[in-house]
Amino acid sequence: MSPADVLIDCQEAALTFGRGPNAVVAVHGAGLRIRAGDRLAIVGPSGSGKSSLLHLLAGLEQPTSGTVTWPGLAGPWDIGLVFQGDSLIPALDVAENTALPLVLTGTPDDRAREAALAALALVGAADLADRLPEEISGGQAQRVACARVLTQTPRVILADEPTGRLDHATGGRVLDALLTAAAETGAALVVTTHDPAIAARLTVRCTMRDGRLTSKDTDRGDTDPAHSLGDPS
Ligand code: ADP
Ligand code: MG
Repeated sequence: MSPADVLIDCQEAALTFGRGPNAVVAVHGAGLRIRAGDRLAIVGPSGSGKSSLLHLLAGLEQPTSGTVTWPGLAGPWDIGLVFQGDSLIPALDVAENTALPLVLTGTPDDRAREAALAALALVGAADLADRLPEEISGGQAQRVACARVLTQTPRVILADEPTGRLDHATGGRVLDALLTAAAETGAALVVTTHDPAIAARLTVRCTMRDGRLTSKDTDRGDTDPAHSLGDPS
């Protein structure tokens, strides 16, 4: 396997917020490699560092120590990120929010809208197209944020608790859409969750506790060299 197969290479990456007595170590020396075709769940309770790790993988946070590199990616536009919190632009309706990545990269408005409506349909949110973010619920906004990623063709999709505010059936449908998009585009998919049922649908599961990646299990057996997980203590 060539080094270029590694899309994101996270080596002993740590992230500390604040300084001195107020410092919080959100991530302790995490080692993780994301390769094309990966389907990875990062499972852990609230506050365990899942979002912090995802932000390191996306390059939104600089590691306090260790490194995160993107050997197999051309740039940050190769990463599609579904944020955990609100990420829709209030002045744009749902269809415009969903189409935004395409419009920003030069797709004509009508084609971008068509792609946005198709992506919204995939997550069961087609009927929300003309609403403003303030007119939809948190769970609906989460689905729209997933649809927005589905309009792009990222090489890696990082989804931060994309089903966290959804009922079981809707959450399953959103995960279906992410898995389908990843399969169709060949993207790697990384999903954080505290829901074991969601995690079970991905191929590899890492557990996060108190900022540490503590264990890994995979549907293909633990000897699979496609993932290296550091700091197994
Ligand atoms: P999770 O996504 O698993 O809920 P987070 O990555 O959000 O966990 O948080 C991990 C730890 O880092 C928590 O103790 C949290 O309070 C802390 N933390 C996260 N973001 C910040 C921040 N911007 N400033 C200070 N502490 C933070
Ligand atoms: Mg989080």
